[in-house]
Amino acid sequence: MSDDKIKTIILKPNKEESILRQHPWVFSGAIARLPEGLEEGETVCVKAADGRVLGIGHYQIGSIAVRLLEFDTDTVPDDIYSRRLESALALRRSLGLSRPDNNCFRLVHGEGDFLPGLIVDIYGDTAVMQAHSPGMHFARRVIADALTLLPGAGIRNVYYKSETTLPYKAHLDPENEYLAGGYDGNVAVENGLSFNIDWLKGQKTGFFVDQRENRKLLESFAAGRNVLNMFCYTGGFSVYAMRGGAASVDSVDSSAKAAALTDANIELNFPGDPRHKTHAEDAFKFLNEMEKDRYDLIILDPPAFAKHRSALKNGLIGYRKLNAKAFEKIKSGGILFTFSCSQVVSKEQFRLAVFSAAAKSGRRVRILHQLTQPADHPIDISHPEGEYLKGLVLEVE
Ligand code: SAH
Repeated sequence: MSDDKIKTIILKPNKEESILRQHPWVFSGAIARLPEGLEEGETVCVKAADGRVLGIGHYQIGSIAVRLLEFDTDTVPDDIYSRRLESALALRRSLGLSRPDNNCFRLVHGEGDFLPGLIVDIYGDTAVMQAHSPGMHFARRVIADALTLLPGAGIRNVYYKSETTLPYKAHLDPENEYLAGGYDGNVAVENGLSFNIDWLKGQKTGFFVDQRENRKLLESFAAGRNVLNMFCYTGGFSVYAMRGGAASVDSVDSSAKAAALTDANIELNFPGDPRHKTHAEDAFKFLNEMEKDRYDLIILDPPAFAKHRSALKNGLIGYRKLNAKAFEKIKSGGILFTFSCSQVVSKEQFRLAVFSAAAKSGRRVRILHQLTQPADHPIDISHPEGEYLKGLVLEVE
């Protein structure tokens, strides 16, 4: 990719500061001049107004105009993807995530792995890859090859799943497809528990690997409790609660498909166990209708209520209302695991929303744990936008 035809974007004066601090995004408002004929997804060099080379990255139309791959250089090494993937795998190995009783983890978390716009989750010998930028879309075959050649990773299948993640205005019309291998069984193991992963039809890459550590913590609270896993999707929290010795586990999701996935995963780990029941129902309907004091361990892990800054206010109201319902109904001495995966909602804002729900209920609530995303979803310290998952474990008197 060391190409002398690489075009150059020039910034307005004094707009280079965040880049000098290694923030990998160049906003469109900072750009003085776009080169002629620059196309979406093209690799482009970025220079300050005084001509200083700032870095090189992928161009796209929109408010984030360039996602930088390298700083202080105007060339991209040909082996950039294989080198970045190698160091991403080395990190996961050092975290102890790649082992016989745990073969699913996030291998690439975008900016957090210095590959802005790229997500790769590993399920055994399958890598599920999502491009969030046209540049990564164009590089998909090179990345897929690098994944299958990644030493020691044992990746045989690469499924590309970007139909819903690429900016649709780019008109790339990506197809979800295997770029290497093909279907080859889809059971993944997380902390010794088995999960059917449906990357073809499931949400995101098929599973929420980001809740692995939080599910494990939940397991340690489950013994003898009556558990409600609200927004269960594949039933991750439910399966851990069962292993933790819960007295009963009710899993709720408004999607019938998600409810079926949960049933299958319970069956896989605890066949015929009468402690578990799935309900394909709306969360608020279920919470409104359920008996008070029925549950003493409740999990609330809803989809992002605020996907964009414009939805922040309503999103916070949503978190407050949802948590207020749980505080109203949870048994005395109960434990609430409550989450927000909205990137635009800060830790403080989420905590405040939960606090106002607690205040409204009039119950005494203590924070036992403050949770976040696991280490295979690293946050580049120069790119705080990479932090998205927040959770609280609360004891309700
Ligand atoms: N806790 C899950 C991930 C939850 S994803 C895990 O650990 O894997 C969010 C889930 O909420 C999705 O499965 C979605 O179908 C469900 N959902 C969205 N709106 C809902 C609603 N109003 N009531 C119940 N479930 C809902």
